[in-house]
Amino acid sequence: MLLKLRYPVDYITITNEFKSNHQAIDLGWNRNYGGLNQNIYSPHDGIVVSVVDGRKNNLVNKNDAGNLVKIKHNNQLTTRLIHLLKDSIIVKEGNIVKTGDLIAKMGNSGYALGNHLHYNVYLNSEKVNPIQYTYAYKDQIISDNSKNKDQILYYNENIVDNYYIVKKNDTLSNIGNIYNISYQELAEYNDISNPNLIRIGQKIKIPIFNLSFILKEGSNGQSVKELQKRLNQLGYNLIVDGMFGRKTKKAVLDFQNKNNLIIDGIVGKETSNAIGWLYQSK
Ligand SMILES: [Zn+2]
Repeated sequence: MLLKLRYPVDYITITNEFKSNHQAIDLGWNRNYGGLNQNIYSPHDGIVVSVVDGRKNNLVNKNDAGNLVKIKHNNQLTTRLIHLLKDSIIVKEGNIVKTGDLIAKMGNSGYALGNHLHYNVYLNSEKVNPIQYTYAYKDQIISDNSKNKDQILYYNENIVDNYYIVKKNDTLSNIGNIYNISYQELAEYNDISNPNLIRIGQKIKIPIFNLSFILKEGSNGQSVKELQKRLNQLGYNLIVDGMFGRKTKKAVLDFQNKNNLIIDGIVGKETSNAIGWLYQSK
């Protein structure tokens, strides 16, 4: 499952978009929201793999990233935050960081014509468009003047997008078998008109755990499996069989009790939010 990165600034305005000669997005500033030196936060949990500090603005060398922090989030995703304000970086190489942890302040070190954050996302070591992997959280502000405003993704803790990357000899039906979904459903969900035509490396979106519906005793299927997996990650010990029976209900009741929710054993919006939130923040 691909991590959902959080925008590294609370005031989001894209001033320069991703293109072949700019494989990042630039995020700008606003005097009302932190100004020239707004806070820069970690886009996800991770380990700091590289820090450069002490650099000044340098308009001579176009490749000068200035002060930077690079964070490895997992085996797939790494982010790099550059042009940071000199002496503002509060993490060191090897530090463990959490989503939203303060990292540094925005600056214009290196080759930067003004204060901004140049934000790179690497997927399997390749620079990819950050806008496709980064999400705006509820507490973040999106500027009306932002470029690509309509493409900015919103984080929704109710929906976890799972992707399957097609490997050699895969068919849509054997992928479906893994997830208990028919190939017809997968094809429809992915707008695939001919289920026989899938290619290696293609990302198949798996419709899992969309808790816009309610799960309760007697429910079954993939969503219940996801629920059981999540409960297990939260310390319960359920058999992941996709059947919402007495044991699953007992776990849900206990979770609701511990989290000051209505204790009814039914997983609706409040409970799924709570489960999603705890899952994300663990
Ligand atoms: Zn840039």
